[in-house]
Order: sequence, then structure tokens, then C-alpha cells
Amino acid sequence: MATVKKAMKYVYSFGGGKADGNESMKNLLGGKGANLAEMAGNPKLKLPVPPGFTLTTEVCTYYYANKRTYPKVLDAQVKEALGKMEKITGKKFGDAKNPLLVSVRSGARKSMPGMMETVLNVGLNEKTIEGLIAQSGDARFAYDAYRRLIMMYADVVMEKAAGIEPKGKGIRKQLDEKLEAIKHKNKYASDTDLTVDDLKALVADYKKTIKKVLGVDFPDDPMKQLWGGMSAVFASWNGKRAIEYRRIEKIPDEWGTAVNVQAMVFGNMGADCCTGVAFTRNPGNGENMFYGEYLVNAQGEDVVAGIRTPAPINAYSKNAQSEQFDTLEKLMPVQYKELDAIQQRLEKHYKDMQDIEFTIEKGKLYMLQCRVGKRNGVAAVRMATEMYKSKMIDAKTAIMRVGPNQLVELLLPMLDPKEELLKPIIAKGLPAGPGGAKGRVVFTSEDAVAWAAKGEKVILVREETSPEDVDGMHKAQAILTTKGGMTSHAALVARGWGKCCIVGCGDIEIHTDSKIFKAKNGEVIKEGDWISLNGTKGLVYEGSMPLVDIDIEKNQSYKDLMKLVDQVKQIGVRANAETPEDANVAFKFGAEGIGLFRTEHMFYGEGSEEPLFQLRKMIVSKTEKERRAALNDLFKYVKKDVKNTLNVMKGHPVTIRLLDPPLHEFVPHDKEKLAHLSKELGISMSVLRRRVLALHENNPMLGHRGVRLGISYPEITEMQIRAIFEATAELTKQGKKALPEIMIPVTCTVNELYHQRKIVDQVYKEVCEKTDLKKIPYLFGTMIEIPRAALKAKEMAEAADFFSFGTNDLTQMSFGFSRDDIGGFLPNYLDQKILLDDPFQTIDQDGIGELIKFGTERGRITKPNLKVGICGEHGGDPESVKFCHRIGMNYVSCSPFRVPIARLAAAQAAIESPRKVTGKK
Ligand code: ADP
Ligand code: MG
Ligand code: MG
Repeated sequence: MATVKKAMKYVYSFGGGKADGNESMKNLLGGKGANLAEMAGNPKLKLPVPPGFTLTTEVCTYYYANKRTYPKVLDAQVKEALGKMEKITGKKFGDAKNPLLVSVRSGARKSMPGMMETVLNVGLNEKTIEGLIAQSGDARFAYDAYRRLIMMYADVVMEKAAGIEPKGKGIRKQLDEKLEAIKHKNKYASDTDLTVDDLKALVADYKKTIKKVLGVDFPDDPMKQLWGGMSAVFASWNGKRAIEYRRIEKIPDEWGTAVNVQAMVFGNMGADCCTGVAFTRNPGNGENMFYGEYLVNAQGEDVVAGIRTPAPINAYSKNAQSEQFDTLEKLMPVQYKELDAIQQRLEKHYKDMQDIEFTIEKGKLYMLQCRVGKRNGVAAVRMATEMYKSKMIDAKTAIMRVGPNQLVELLLPMLDPKEELLKPIIAKGLPAGPGGAKGRVVFTSEDAVAWAAKGEKVILVREETSPEDVDGMHKAQAILTTKGGMTSHAALVARGWGKCCIVGCGDIEIHTDSKIFKAKNGEVIKEGDWISLNGTKGLVYEGSMPLVDIDIEKNQSYKDLMKLVDQVKQIGVRANAETPEDANVAFKFGAEGIGLFRTEHMFYGEGSEEPLFQLRKMIVSKTEKERRAALNDLFKYVKKDVKNTLNVMKGHPVTIRLLDPPLHEFVPHDKEKLAHLSKELGISMSVLRRRVLALHENNPMLGHRGVRLGISYPEITEMQIRAIFEATAELTKQGKKALPEIMIPVTCTVNELYHQRKIVDQVYKEVCEKTDLKKIPYLFGTMIEIPRAALKAKEMAEAADFFSFGTNDLTQMSFGFSRDDIGGFLPNYLDQKILLDDPFQTIDQDGIGELIKFGTERGRITKPNLKVGICGEHGGDPESVKFCHRIGMNYVSCSPFRVPIARLAAAQAAIESPRKVTGKK
């Protein structure tokens, strides 16, 4: 016998102390709906929530799958739910004597602020308004509610959702102008001055205008209004704003939104009414204090829209603008007390800071919403650790509460946010290096160095930067470039230093000759003028703005959190650093070693003149003899550099990468420098020119670089190895600990490693003999950055003690995307969702990630204990760190300033997917 299939439940009711749903049903009911159900239905909370119902996200899915229609059963279920509301409130929807009015509210799983406006007062028309007047005894209030409904409905439902093209300006604007005209004519200061007659006239005028502008009548039928409102919410899910927001926040399109319909309560019925928004703790700094704002005689949207300056709910919430207003605590002490008790109950129940909406109607308090409150990085860390200490949450929960990228906000100075509100933005670019900075504009690296030497604070403004600019970049407070993307040279370098940087700022045009730049808005900035940058948002301001400084050592909450983090994480976190100063910073941020020490960095920037000259001599040498002579001179610099860094790291591993870039990058082009070289080498300028020319390559990235140099010129490898071993030996003899890891770059076959290893073995023996040491600690390994090396990992591991995945190059070579040229096409790829993420920012887990996994597994077939890590930009990207944890790497390595972020991400990975093996650093 066939059983009768029960109809799908599309509508969930709440109110009257009961609810069909609860907080765990966010996927079905959306965030707002699930929390309304919880507040209304959980007997422990017992909160005063106006009754209502929620249309599930499945209705949304159905709506889009079926040409914007609804399931057949929906109509009956809505009627039934409406009936329940009528029973609880004792009012009737559409009734002329005692009308029930409702709000129609959106509510996705995750809150999407600004995506869809709410429609309030649905159910009002020429007949029901009489009932509302009788009920409230206040005609002015009733007409005010009516004109609000018409205004919101015309804008949200009739224009936006229906996609009707308005004649002239948008309907909201036109209706707004009508209201303003009346205020102007009668010299009213505020909306509250409008009389009943004004409002009556306004309502009539609104309706006429709607017909004229949109070509349709405002619906007077309450049922029509209700369905119009609900459809508008579903339609808004695929509005332009919502789609864009989902793209940024990575919210799947399939989720859909729910719709909430709720009985209206009125905060605008007089002086004993109000509406407000509050947080159970201060979302700005995390302090455990009830914080909020409210408006007397107002309806919900007025607080957020900023029509009037809201008043503080209590003394703690006062600010400079709201000081003079009475607090809610003073004005309505009984209701405030009730609200305060409720907020405490809510936080205890949800075990997290809540953002709540309330309305007081004629002295009676109603709760309209609660959700987990948004907070900045500083507040997030403080709340997490304080809730942990008070035993509200456990350590794991505390760790999961802070977004790794939120930590950035704790580490960098920033522009004073209060000042930013007051100043116009002159240009926008890409936020490459967060934090704030101010300085005087210079246009060349040399000027930056020279001005800085005189004690000036400068901002280096260039079309783009190159390694030659590094010194100037270092000396500058911040860097602003007009070209280049988030992985451009400027961005990479700035991020490494934790320096404020904006790149790809096409809004400005540099005129190098006249030493000015012009901003799109017409502003002209000359050399020496002050500008200020917000690198977190990519904003440029004219003038010198104050910075607020942050000293992380003073932040006890941060220290508490990181202590928990280190107890939980299972993967090592190292830093990429090449100077003792950087190594010190890294150490302070908790690095457990150095994962990438680039030897060539000693040839850039401050103090590099002499070693760079020796390097150049070596590069243009013709014979081995010439080259050895130059290398001999270079030796002491390399040794000193290596030794200093090993010393700072006190026995923590330091991975030293042998010389990597193509040599021609270091060759000078200006005459003076060439002349100096030719003199020193005792060769003519024309011979020198010929030698330089011979170094030219068509595709240097894939040219004579990395291990290839060490194979063509073994003496280059030899010198570096000797420097490393002697430095280590000397420290060892001083009774200090030092652990270098020699890393060979750009390899593609194990034979390259065998070749280099021979040199290592030979030099090792020599240095041991020379220093009288039996053993010098070291490891020998390779970078895996060419796809073939990953494919041949099993063989590569025969000659290597460790692998370090160089994911920048690995991504470049596997995708075939030139890192320096992606600006031309990658934005299109992202816009059209051909790629979901920039693979240079976060590891492409199912492409490049597969290669990394494969390489790791294969390598460990040969050597089960093979140490595996990652260096390069991805090491500081939270998602990439989690990936590295999951595939069993020993460590990640990133820029010093990202070390805390990587540590937190590592701890979160260990909580989300704990693994058996804890990595060696
Ligand atoms: P958002 O998601 O943008 O916050 P809401 O659905 O919360 O939108 O509604 C916007 C405003 O309208 C809020 O201030 C809310 O308190 C108010 N509001 C919503 N429903 C009602 C209601 N039934 N009675 C009174 N005010 C309401
Ligand atoms: Mg809200
Ligand atoms: Mg490389």
C-alpha cells in the first residue's frame, strides 16, 4: 500500500514561548531565523521575541530551480503560520479594526550586511491604517509608519527586486526629495516635526510619484504586499551587490537565503519607546563591557542609517558626539536592567560576544535579533583569551576564535581611524603591505636614501620597483607604486618587512621630469609634499596624519593566546630572513628557525658596495684564476653574514640557499661603475663590454641561474660552502650551537645534487682538518621548485637530507604564468571564476598541492624521515599553512612579520585535523 508522503516543511514558526527551529539550524533557517527561533523557543532563555515565521533556504533553492516560482504547499503553510501569529498577538493581518503588521527580513546563513533592506510595516493600507490609529490612539504615528512602508517597499520591492527602470533618478531619491521639500517649506529641523496632515499629504504624493516613476501602482492588498516583500528577498540573493559580496567572502551561490516575517513592534510610538543596537562586549577593543546605542521614538533602521545621532545605552558607551544625551540606563532604568540581564544570559548561552537588536514599545522590551558580533583583531584576541581565562570557553575554542589575518592588525602601526573619517581619499590602490604610514614624497630610490640620511620621513612613489631600489625602499616609511599587482616586487619586499605598501595605484600618474604626481581627483602632489597611506585598505591621503603605534610585547592577551597556540600546533614555523636584524625580529615573533636565507641579499642595500663590487668582478671574470681571485675577496663577506645569522639563531636551524639569481642581474650599466671594474680587472672597457654582453639571456628566469651556476663554476659553490663550514666551525669552537642547512636551488635531477655534494664533502673534509674538528653539524638538501624535481622526488631524496618546496617558482613553472606579468590576465581569470584564487597568494591545493604531496610522499619512500618544509610567500598564508600541516610537512617558513599568523594557522590546523606525527622544526 502506498503511504501518503508528508509535504515538505518550508515554513518554521516562532513565538509565544515556542519555536519549530533552533540555533543549530542555520543552514535551513539562515542565521537570523535560527537565532530568532532559539531566543523565542529555548526555555532557558525565555526572551520576549515578537512572533513570526521563517521561509527556509530550500524555498530559495526551489525558487531559482523553478523559474522563480514557489512550491505549491507554500501558500497554505504561510497562511497557517500567519494564523499562529494572529493567535499570539490577538491581531489580524489585513484587518481594518485590529490589524497585524509585519516586517519582512532577509537572513542568509552568514550575515551579508547591506545586501538586502528590510521592509517594515507590511500590511498597512487605506483601511488598516484606521485600525492602527484606533489601536495606538496616534494618527501621526500611523501615517509615519505608512509613509515608511511605501518608501521602503517602492525602493526595495518595486524598483530593485522587480528590476524596473525608474524614470529619472531612483525612486528612493525622488521620494526623499518630497520629504525634504515639506521640511524645507515649513522650516522643520527634523522628520519628527512633520504633522499628521503633512504625512497624509506625503503618502498621497508618494503613491502618485510611484505610479509616474515606476509605471505601476503601490499594492494596497496586504497579502500582495507580503508576497512582494518575500519575493524581493529571494530575488535580492542574485542582485549585483549580493553576488559581488559572496565572491569576496567566498560564500557559495547555492546556499540561498531564508526570509523572516515577524510581527511589528514599534519603537516610534512616543517618548516611552525606543530602538537600539548593542554588543555584549566592546567590539572595538574587546573590553568586557556592555556597549550600545539607541534612539528614542524611532524605528529600527534609523539607528544604523545615521539619520539622528544615537544616544549611549550606558555611561560606558558615551563618546564625544553622544555625551550630552541621556543614557537608556537613566531614562528607562527598569527596561535597561532587563536588557542587561538578557545580554548576560545571551552571552553565557552562546559563549561568544553577541550583537543584539532591541525595541522598547510603550515600556515593553522586545528582542529582535542576536548574532555573533563582528570585531576587529585587537578585540578578537582579547575576548578569546578573557573568555578562556574565565572558563567560558576552552583553549581550542579560544584559538579558533581569532582569524589568522586579524593578527596583522595587532602588529602594525596604523593611521588614526578618527582622522581617516575626516580626510578625503585622493587615490586607491591594492593593499599590498598593511598598516599605516606618513612621509614626504620622493620619486627615486637615491632620493629616498639621501633624504632619509638627513632624518626625513619619506614615501617612495614609483611606477614599479626593482631589486636596485631595495635600499631606498628600506629607508622609506612606505612604498606607493602605480603598476604591479599583489605579488610584484614592491609588494613582496614590503610584506617581508611588514612595511606599509600600496601597489597598482592607477589613480595617480607620475611625472618624473617635473617631480610631481597627479591624482585622478585633480590633486597635484609635489616632491617633498606630505602624504599618508592606509596600506590595509589601499587608500592614499594628502598631508601628514597621526599614526597609532602598537607594541606587541605589551599586549598581554596576544601573549596569552600565542602561548596556547604553541601548545597545540604540530608543525614548525620558521622565518625567511637574511640579516641578523631580520633574524632577531623573527625570533621575537616566535620563529623556530630560518627556512630561507638568501645569500644574494648581501649584495643589495646598505653596506653592499664592497661585496657587490667583488661579486661583479667574479661575474665578468673570464678565467678560473680571475674568478677564484674575486671569490677569495668575496669569501669573508659571505662568511661574516652567515656567521652572524647562525649566531643569532642559537642552534635553531638556518637554511642557507646558495646563490640563485642569474648573474647578469648584478652587472652594472653605468659608465663610472664599469670603468672602475675594468681598471680593477686590468682589462679595456671594450673587452669588459663584450663580457657583459655575453651574459645576456633571452629568458633569464629559465636561464643560467641556481645550481646551474655551481655546475658551470664549481668554485662558486666551493666558496660558499667553505664560508658556511668555517662560520659554523668557529661558532662550535666558541661553544655555541649552530645548525646550517645547505640548500641547492633550481634543481631538476639528482645528478645535480650528486655533483654539488661532492664539492660539499671535499670542503667539509678540508675545513674539519683545518679547524681540528671531528664533526661540523649540517644538513644538505634542495629546493623543489621545478615540477620535474617533484616528479623525481624519490631519486632526489637519495642525495638530499631535506626538501624545501619553493612554491613561488613551482607555481610559476607549473602554471606557466610569469610571476611578473600576471597583472595582465589574472584579474580576468578571477573575475570570470576561471581561477578562484591567485595561486601566488594561496597554494593551488588541487593542482600545485598535488605536486607537493606527491613529491613529499615520494621523497619519504626513499627516506622515511626526510625533513620537508616550504619557503616562499605561501608559508605565511593561513590556508596554505593548514595545507602543509595536513600533508605532513615538518615546517613552514614565511616573512618574519607573518610568523605569528602562521603559528596561529598551524594551531588551527592541528585542531581541525590533528595528525599523529609532530614535525621537527
Ligand atoms: P539587517 O539584517 O540589515 O540588520 P533587519 O532584518 O535586522 O536587517 O532589520 C532592520 C531593522 O528593522 C532592524 O533595526 C530591526 O530591529 C528592525 N526590525 C525588523 N523587524 C522588526 C519588527 N518586527 N519590529 C520592529 N522593528 C523591526
Ligand atoms: Mg539586523
Ligand atoms: Mg626560486
